[in-house]
Amino acid sequence: VPTVSIYGIPFSKLNMRDTVQMLTDSIDSGQQSLQVITANPIMVMAALENDKFMSIMKQADLIVPDGTGVVWAANYVGNPVAERVTGFDMLHELMKFGEDRRWKVFLLGAAPEVVQAAAERLHQQYPAVEIVGARDGFFGEAEDEDVVRQVQEANPHILFVARGADTQEPWIAKYRHQLRVPLMMGVGGSFDILSG
Ligand code: UDP
Repeated sequence: VPTVSIYGIPFSKLNMRDTVQMLTDSIDSGQQSLQVITANPIMVMAALENDKFMSIMKQADLIVPDGTGVVWAANYVGNPVAERVTGFDMLHELMKFGEDRRWKVFLLGAAPEVVQAAAERLHQQYPAVEIVGARDGFFGEAEDEDVVRQVQEANPHILFVARGADTQEPWIAKYRHQLRVPLMMGVGGSFDILSG
């Protein structure tokens, strides 16, 4: 993947179409535990201030430019990205690919009624995709094991995690190899938008 380094963070230069095609090929090939981060300038700043967060960013398989600030920064260093690639848009693009392939998807995050409503909305819009799990994002470390087991048993192709940016990426990074899900991605406030 062609990248541009912004404060040491390698951002993908691919457009949405090529990004989703690449991720789809990865899922089709049976690859496991891919972590995608849609990173905005706030996350770049957080990584610069926090070594742990920086190492989480760097061990991700793909970092895409979410936020016009990142697109601007890439232009500024003379190595532009194709376009802004947001988590919300990518979620929809992946669901479209999932329709043909009858993928299974797990939604993790937001309040219980929000994640339920998001699941129903996605089911209406993409009926061939099976929502194999919808669980809220308000749990502590003590429940992690239970959540990981629930995801493993549901055996999805994609796990979308909608918690705060400071929580969702570290959580995925910590459990990605146990979860054994082909593709995992933080989507921030996307379930709130879907349910609204
Ligand atoms: N959220 C969650 N668990 C938490 C904190 C937040 O599931 O412990 C959800 C919240 O309900 C919302 C999403 O994470 O759906 C994004 O939250 P917020 O916009 O506050 O996070 P930010 O992206 O601003 O860090």
